Amino acid sequence: MSVKALRATFGPQCHWCGLPMDFDPPTDRPESATIEHLNDATLGSVRKQSHRRLAHAACNRARNEFRLQAERQFRAWIDERVAAVAAGK
Ligand SMILES: [Zn+2]
Repeated sequence: MSVKALRATFGPQCHWCGLPMDFDPPTDRPESATIEHLNDATLGSVRKQSHRRLAHAACNRARNEFRLQAERQFRAWIDERVAAVAAGK
């Protein structure tokens, strides 16, 4: 499903912030519309057309960064937990 098709289906607003996106070239700006894959590999399933939405490039990037941060924090927490048990605390 292309950006054009997604826009026709879901409208010109960003999936995350709800603000209007920029569909004009160049398409590599923060306000540009990008395809957001909602059904990521973390869910262990195949990407589906129905799980594609449009989001600002900036929102798309921020979401990925926050998810990576959260993943790293969780990993650090797990490591601490394991280390505490290993230390007999
Ligand atoms: Zn947005």
